Amino acid sequence: MDLMKGKKGLIMGVANERSIAWGISQKLTEAGAELAFTYPADALKKRVIPLAEKLNSKVTFSCDVEKKEDVTKLFEDIKSQWGQIDFVVHAVAFSDKSELSGEYLNTSRENFLRSMLISCFSFTEVSKEAAKIMKEGGSLLTLTYESTKAIPNYNVMGVCKSALETSVKYLARDLGEKNIRVNAICPVLIKTDGLIKALNNKFSPAKKNVNKFFKEFSKQNSALGSLPTPEHVASMCYYLSQIESSSITGQCINIDCGVFPQ
Ligand code: NAD
Repeated sequence: MDLMKGKKGLIMGVANERSIAWGISQKLTEAGAELAFTYPADALKKRVIPLAEKLNSKVTFSCDVEKKEDVTKLFEDIKSQWGQIDFVVHAVAFSDKSELSGEYLNTSRENFLRSMLISCFSFTEVSKEAAKIMKEGGSLLTLTYESTKAIPNYNVMGVCKSALETSVKYLARDLGEKNIRVNAICPVLIKTDGLIKALNNKFSPAKKNVNKFFKEFSKQNSALGSLPTPEHVASMCYYLSQIESSSITGQCINIDCGVFPQ
């Protein structure tokens, strides 16, 4: 199972062992890929470097995607280190937590723009820079969540994800000529710190008991009676990052145990 031997890729969005990006990193390492990691701030550097070392990676970079110069420098540094790159996993999102509850109508201009920049546009900027050093084609992946419906409390993040999913389609068109594939994975409710923070608000049905909420949600909504794990997401990421998926681009693939059957 070393279909990714010799492949080099960047993982953006590991915050800790519960991050979806961490599950993905473990799977891609098992498959033989060599990984580099980013962290957005010194506070996270202390966590990300030891995690990278667990997967035998010494390649870590500081990159706050809110800063254009960080993104440009990131790919210059990767070029100096590796010469080229085969894949990128973008598992980055941010919104002011106070606006992930109540009415979307109350979204502030400032948080709308910041959330869009970090959660949506950064994938376009990252793709542009990564494509410059993808010499033999490659794979660009991002993470999204069901954005075709208005979901209570998801608010501005739903709007960002909708724009992100559309970006995936345009980027797939633009980069197809270079044999660079662009896709999104859409998992449903993985218990990461990012999700728990978002659910921890006075309007959330999960506020009182997150575990109970997850249990009831899966019972009522999932065709399989369960919810996906980071390992399920990692398996799809592995598939989309390697040669066996060479005809798939511009797609948003649900990993949802049948919560949103199409
Ligand atoms: P997480 O909190 O572990 O990951 C979010 C990451 O975004 C963190 O590593 C954080 O450092 C990074 N980030 C935030 N602002 C940044 C910035 N300015 N620059 C660089 N990095 C920044 O949570 P997660 O649930 O693993 O989220 C990863 C991705 O998966 C997100 O895009 C999220 O929307 C998406 N997603 C999560 C779920 C879920 O159920 N957990 C479902 C669908 C999609």
